[in-house]
Amino acid sequence: MITSVLPTYNRAPLTFVKGEGAWLIEADGRRFLDLGAGIAVNALGHAHPALTQALTDQAGALWHTSNLYHIPQQQALADKLVQATFADTVFFTNSGTEACELAVKMARKYWYDKGQPDKVDIITFSGSFHGRSSAGIAAAGSEKMTKGFGPLLPGFVHLPFADHDALEPAITDTTAAILMEPVQGEGGIIPVPDQCLKGLRDLCDQKGILLILDEVQCGVGRTGKLFAHEWAGIAPEIMMVAKGIGGGFPLGCVLATEDAASGMTAGTHGSTYGGNPLGCAVGCAVLDIVSDVDFLADVNRKAGLLRQKLEGLVASHPDVFETVRGAGLMLGIKCKVACGDVVSGGYAQQVITVPAADNTVRLLPPLNITDDEIATAVDRLDATATALGA
Ligand SMILES: *Cc1c(COP(=O)(O)O)cnc(C)c1O
Repeated sequence: MITSVLPTYNRAPLTFVKGEGAWLIEADGRRFLDLGAGIAVNALGHAHPALTQALTDQAGALWHTSNLYHIPQQQALADKLVQATFADTVFFTNSGTEACELAVKMARKYWYDKGQPDKVDIITFSGSFHGRSSAGIAAAGSEKMTKGFGPLLPGFVHLPFADHDALEPAITDTTAAILMEPVQGEGGIIPVPDQCLKGLRDLCDQKGILLILDEVQCGVGRTGKLFAHEWAGIAPEIMMVAKGIGGGFPLGCVLATEDAASGMTAGTHGSTYGGNPLGCAVGCAVLDIVSDVDFLADVNRKAGLLRQKLEGLVASHPDVFETVRGAGLMLGIKCKVACGDVVSGGYAQQVITVPAADNTVRLLPPLNITDDEIATAVDRLDATATALGA
């Protein structure tokens, strides 16, 4: 008999009832160190006082009005994002998937309004993940996500990741944009080297096409810059953001330049909930903390510390682990044993990690994890590897 919750997830036998910073408390009272952060969502850990305050203050004042009216919290968050990034304008969503939908629509409408309605194709890369909507699965294109869900939304051209020679010839008269994650998340924490992002930017300029970056997982301070593309000194025309921006409240957005957004006039897109007062009040509180230069400097310092300890961990368990990769506090350990065994072995040591493709365990701790917690985390991963018998 089917479960009352649609069984699309294989859930771990864990039920968390409370969170405190980087810690999750199980129904039985055990305390787990959370290196998953709800899949890079709880950027400031659990129950951060400033976020709780922002949410409860707003909850006591006004929850929802719809986008038929001005929403001061949404205006404030848009202003902050425009001020902090390449973008001139922002549309708010409830998720990364919805951000993907708009990014695709925006790119197509851009060319349509420029009198080039044939430019509809978006180039994407193997191993990418852009959400589970019809556009999102068509964009990423892997059989794992698309099988059985056809006919797929047309207009996506899939290239092998890191195949530089394939890229230029794939750009044709019908190409609207290139869509890429600066650090692939679900694909196994695979960073795109700065040189390649620069090259991609140059190629888009040369061919006159749009660059769309999906920073849903790697954005909002995760890599030690507010947005990951900043490391390469480039900017996209359109960017998808979600996960960390709401710190745990469902919130996403699309950032765009004025030119790229020029087709999106009144009536062309919408969302009942997107940019609601609750989400945006929390988003403002998250961004105020995460965009601070000292905060980001500390993320980089701690990222160095964690990375160094993980290199040591991998070296002392060569039969379990293969290598560490990633950027900032978005790290992946490629495993030699099944990565799912490392994740579930971690549960016994009360440490939470998240599996990804390419047999990789993801470490996406809260950005405000402490040095002591990093040391504890690596000790627990060490115990996990030891218990796996190698
Ligand atoms: C999680 C994710 C999405 C989808 O976001 P949802 O909030 O789950 O809809 C899209 N792109 C990337 C890179 C992601 O990591």
